[in-house]
Amino acid sequence: MNPKMGNLIYAGKAKTVYETDDPEQVIVKFRDDITAGDGVKTESLVRKGYYNSVISAKFFEVLEDAGIKTQYLRLIKPGYMLCKKLNMIPLEVITRNIAAGSLLKKFPFTEKQELEPPIIQMDYKNDEYHDPMLNDSISIALGLATKEELDSIRSITLEINSVIKEFLLSKSILFPDFKIEYGFDTDENIVLGDEISPDTCRFWDAETSEVLDKDLFRKGEEGVMDAYMKVASLLLDEEDIAKWNVEF
Ligand code: UDP
Repeated sequence: MNPKMGNLIYAGKAKTVYETDDPEQVIVKFRDDITAGDGVKTESLVRKGYYNSVISAKFFEVLEDAGIKTQYLRLIKPGYMLCKKLNMIPLEVITRNIAAGSLLKKFPFTEKQELEPPIIQMDYKNDEYHDPMLNDSISIALGLATKEELDSIRSITLEINSVIKEFLLSKSILFPDFKIEYGFDTDENIVLGDEISPDTCRFWDAETSEVLDKDLFRKGEEGVMDAYMKVASLLLDEEDIAKWNVEF
């Protein structure tokens, strides 16, 4: 039985969260809005929410199978995900396996330089302050998390990176970097929230180096939705397509 969609709790830049009849569960609606540069560049891409929701659902299922706690309960239908209600931590946890994007603007890394061990960076999720990069003392002083929680976030993040990197490689996709967010569940466990999609990750075709993510939108290039659809078609197997009734 499908849960009832209740009042709106929160509307972000690309997703909206609704109450359900169960106080511990929410429905996350993946919208078609796409933004870049602190929301300065905004557009709507037909069916972006649809594909991002199935891509995220697939990653959450792969992570759950590997024993990692996520907010994911199930995909009600493409675009609508039933999730555990979390108390979100305002941290953008960014992991980098290959140097790209803002890292190259801030530090003297070489483009496409391999980063082993991966770099983990935490930014403060706060538009007013333009998501500044944090260190542990600032995070602790701001009351965002304790030292133990930050250590535990780093160790879960490294595990997530390994699991997803390996899964993507099996689909011939490279995983240069990604951003994830965490929250606390009702038992105060640290749980993966938000999404894992081409909006929040870099994905490169391992054979051709073709960009398959939001960088196409950031750079004003064509074929953003074709790239997102390609990621979905590479990641989903026939069982997923049938289970979620996904149309390409
Ligand atoms: N990222 C994100 N939201 C942000 C900032 C970054 O999802 O507000 C993701 C981004 O898609 C990329 C990774 O985090 O996969 C690293 O981004 P970077 O710092 O290089 O910034 P960008 O160059 O994308 O602005």
